[in-house]
Amino acid sequence: NATTAQQLPDLLPDLDWIADTLRVGRLSQDFAWFSPVLKRDLAGKRGDIAVRPRTEAEIRQVVAACASAGIPLTVRGSGTGNYGQSTPLHGGVILDLSGYNAFGWVRGGVGRAQSGIRLADFDAQAKPHGQELRWLPSTYRSATLGGLFGGGFGGAGSINHGPLAAPGNVLAVRAMTVEPEPQIIELRGPEAMLLHHTYGTNGIVLELEVALTPAVEWTECIATFAQFDAALEFADRFGSAPGLEKKEVCFVAAPIPQYFTSLAEHLPADQHAVLLLVAPHSEDGMRDMVAQHGGQVTYRKTADEVASSHKTLLEYTWNHTTLHALKVDKGLTYIQSGFNPMHRLKQVRALEAALKGEVMMHLEFLRTKEGAFNCSGLQIIRYTTEERLNQIMQIYRDHGVQINNPHVYIVEDGKQNNLDPAVVGMKRRFDPQGLLNPGKLRSWYAADPSTPAAAPVRQTA
Ligand code: FAD
Repeated sequence: NATTAQQLPDLLPDLDWIADTLRVGRLSQDFAWFSPVLKRDLAGKRGDIAVRPRTEAEIRQVVAACASAGIPLTVRGSGTGNYGQSTPLHGGVILDLSGYNAFGWVRGGVGRAQSGIRLADFDAQAKPHGQELRWLPSTYRSATLGGLFGGGFGGAGSINHGPLAAPGNVLAVRAMTVEPEPQIIELRGPEAMLLHHTYGTNGIVLELEVALTPAVEWTECIATFAQFDAALEFADRFGSAPGLEKKEVCFVAAPIPQYFTSLAEHLPADQHAVLLLVAPHSEDGMRDMVAQHGGQVTYRKTADEVASSHKTLLEYTWNHTTLHALKVDKGLTYIQSGFNPMHRLKQVRALEAALKGEVMMHLEFLRTKEGAFNCSGLQIIRYTTEERLNQIMQIYRDHGVQINNPHVYIVEDGKQNNLDPAVVGMKRRFDPQGLLNPGKLRSWYAADPSTPAAAPVRQTA
């Protein structure tokens, strides 16, 4: 008789198992509920049991047992992903790596840690060395380094260094294979990136080595503007100004600022806002530019004030903007879009005019993987039907804007089907039985339809 997931605690009694139905249910979910479509499609999907290993030896024991018994394994960091990335489609074990979180070292401009480390903890460890992470998702307080690599994109800092996927940002990973005798393999450079944004389907990442950047005492400011165009042009000009040092430029068109209820006194009604992290020596230049565009700085906190208040504007940017909006109005959802760097402002203005009232413009300024200055959108949508949501995304595509659909849970569907075939080759090497997060990497099943658990739960167009 084959071992089942529920029998594993008897085999490995020294590990920290979680079998309680409610807790396993919670550990089976992430923030996919931002999408009414994913909420429906992933309802009821859950693991059978969860385990929280704290050492490499403990991880190895779980992996060896699952590989020997053919039990699916879904890796989880902190579960802040947005697309059900750590929700098991076919049961099995949830491998919660949040306890595998030791900081390794900083050497010059490079740092290394175990994958379960929280990004805020990594940053705190790097600061005494005069360094900080190159990108902080707005979930940095809870999100793990492994989770950002497995399911994330970038964040504050991407305006200087691009997304994680930009060459030179992630230098190496140390990963474990899923086999009865698990192997540990170090991958460097482009090979390491084949495990990036694959939702933990093609390797268990144990450690990451990342490039850092000199730490800065960032000042946090909000600038507000009466005119949409003035706010947009300021955000774009300041964001691209090469001499003005910044970490974050987030543009939120009215009425989005109204959802930031705890910042209400700094956000005049009907105004558009730009949330900024600026270096102290660049603040005067930033203020001159705000004035040139007819805006005013309504909020300012030094790095010390941010630290002592435990309140950072970062937690209003990126997908925290959507979170604040959803807290006020449950009838909202969002889309993710990448503009064309050559025509970005023209595209933003045209789409604002075409969909005003139904789509609220939220832009994050950044550099692309190739280095071009650009903006990407996390527009907030007044949700009516799935059909209308798809129409809105099509209107964006018709304007030449790329949509990274956040209402799908298959790796390829979120990437417009642009998956490097080498990703599947990597899965063959690290997960020959197809046990890691089964159902999420469609190309694997196309490569070998006889693989167990081949059918994704539901095909979303
Ligand atoms: P999890 O959600 O636990 O996991 C994410 C994926 O990675 C899963 O598929 C999991 O299987 C896989 N994984 C986790 N650890 C490993 C490992 N060790 N080895 C292999 N695979 C692994 N994302 C951004 O990029 N930028 C943002 O600014 C941002 N803002 C957000 C704001 C909000 C409010 C929310 C809800 C989400 C946001 N996200 C953002 C998405 C998410 O928070 C980040 O991607 C985050 O870094 C995920 O980390 P996590 O530890 O929670 O990962």
